[in-house]
Amino acid sequence: MRDFQLIQNSTFDLIVIGGGINGVGIARDAALRGLKTLLVEKDDFASGTSSWSTRLIHGGLRYLEYFEFNLVRESLREREVLLHTAPHLVQPLQMTIPIYEESSREYWEIKAGMLLYDVLSFDKTVPGHRMLRPQQFRQLFRAAKKAGLKGAAQYFDGQVEYAERLCLEVALDAKEAGATMLNYVMVTKLEMDGAAGAIASMTCRDQLTGETFTVNCTNAVVINTSGPWVDKVCGLARQNDQPASVVKERKIGGTKGSHIIVDPFPGAPTSALYVEAYADNRPYFIIPWLGKYIIGTTDHRYDGALDSVKADNEEIDYLISETNRVMPLAQLTRQDIRFTYSGVRPLPYADGKKAGSITRNHILYDHTPDGAKNLISLIGGKLTTYRQVGEEMTDKAYKKLGRSAPACQTLTKLLPGAMNDFKPTLEKAIARYGDRVSRPSIQHLFAMYGGKAIEVLALVDDAPDLAEKVVDYLPDIKAQAVYAVRSELAYTLVDICRRRTAIAMLSDYGFDALSVLTATLAKHCGWSTAECDRQITQYRKFMEANCIPNYCLTAEEAQKQAA
Ligand SMILES: Cc1cc2nc3c(=O)[nH]c(=O)nc-3n(C[C@H](O)[C@H](O)[C@H](O)COP(=O)(O)OP(=O)(O)OC[C@H]3O[C@@H](n4cnc5c(N)ncnc54)[C@H](O)[C@@H]3O)c2cc1C
Repeated sequence: MRDFQLIQNSTFDLIVIGGGINGVGIARDAALRGLKTLLVEKDDFASGTSSWSTRLIHGGLRYLEYFEFNLVRESLREREVLLHTAPHLVQPLQMTIPIYEESSREYWEIKAGMLLYDVLSFDKTVPGHRMLRPQQFRQLFRAAKKAGLKGAAQYFDGQVEYAERLCLEVALDAKEAGATMLNYVMVTKLEMDGAAGAIASMTCRDQLTGETFTVNCTNAVVINTSGPWVDKVCGLARQNDQPASVVKERKIGGTKGSHIIVDPFPGAPTSALYVEAYADNRPYFIIPWLGKYIIGTTDHRYDGALDSVKADNEEIDYLISETNRVMPLAQLTRQDIRFTYSGVRPLPYADGKKAGSITRNHILYDHTPDGAKNLISLIGGKLTTYRQVGEEMTDKAYKKLGRSAPACQTLTKLLPGAMNDFKPTLEKAIARYGDRVSRPSIQHLFAMYGGKAIEVLALVDDAPDLAEKVVDYLPDIKAQAVYAVRSELAYTLVDICRRRTAIAMLSDYGFDALSVLTATLAKHCGWSTAECDRQITQYRKFMEANCIPNYCLTAEEAQKQAA
């Protein structure tokens, strides 16, 4: 897989820059339709915006306010596709919107939105909406604010608890279909052929070893799916070592969104709430998630550094106070925050527009008029709609290559862990491994890996110690770390704790799992002592830079982070 000499000597039909959900979705669709495909990702798959979302597979009820009916219909159709092709990862989620006297949206407006949402999802398999009278809402959400309650609306959307694993499974399926999928490979230069008006080659650096290599792009379509980095990647264009332009104007105007994760709190709802914030009328979510609650998000224009984005103290306080307002028993304080995360939405640049009103529609921008006829950039694109983007982009690539496109397969093709009925397999696994791995751990593996849980469990056959738990209060077992490295292209502790598992978000930022994990990886994957120490240092830095609130850092840590 990481034979760069071979890659340098190869030619590709399609080259994808960026391994977020959209990049891997395009690589999968293209490879399944016979295009020789290469994807390079500078960090890990889903390390960009794709790992910092609210984890909803949703139509985007809010977009109805901006008359984005096409986007809502497309998202609702894709929600249905994912419920069927990735049932182990995407599940229906019941959502309730309380409506208060002070809400900026009237009861009848919400009701009209609900009706429209149902019409636009006419082919759905989840139940339609229902409106609740105040008394019905109070019975279901006893601890919610009662004063001024006018009623509520209840409807279904989808939730992908392990959004990072959705991205990973798409990447692994692309690899299975023949695509070359390289994480930790960064594009550092796009060399232009001015006469041809196209990208001739791209220079890449292996982030793990520092090795550089060149990829021939002469006969390829190059797809820029670098999310919020789209303009930066365009800025890598050079001709004879002089900056060259492949785009006339800025394409991305990112907005930052932050979340907090808290333990169940007094009066916590048993299902998801979609609430209008008192401070600015923005809707935000309170969502049960893996035994905890995700609360978010904010939405602010963002022009800062993209490689580390962090919830600031004001965003955290805003989410805490809004939650306490609608859930008065919660009494959350900064001390209750278990994890925070922030991402930058790769939205189209729209000067002067309110952050929430910028379209969430995606644009496939063809750079031909700017002098790069083999380059297409993706502007925007939600987690929910990645499959549709993959289909459209592959169609477009085939057109550019002057070849007719075979039929798209991703509407019905299952993701690797998907199984129609996993119960018999789960029961067999419990019968076979139940003496070594606890039932909750086996169930947890099936919830996380689907049918692939069997491969994780099989590691225990040869190495019984891998059946042990990583930390006693989580169901994760040591075998998962080894599986991540051997079969899921993981290279770092951050990959393992943050994106192959959710250990980082469910324990003390994952810190109490590190010694067990490094010992396991030293024993089973050949990590040296020096490598283990380096990984732990790198892991701490990552958590400080992205996830631990600033008010929890010591002055020295904060200074280091700022530097
Ligand atoms: C707060 C928040 C909440 C959201 N909630 C939802 C939600 O609930 N549901 C939903 O559907 N959508 C949601 N979204 C939107 C969704 O998460 C993003 O639109 C989507 O993940 C973007 O994916 P992407 O692949 O385009 O970009 P990214 O995931 O950012 O991937 C781009 C990749 O390009 C790589 N890259 C950059 N430069 C280079 C280079 N030079 N060489 C190689 N690789 C490079 C980066 O490392 C990165 O991994 C949310 C977004 C945010 C910020």
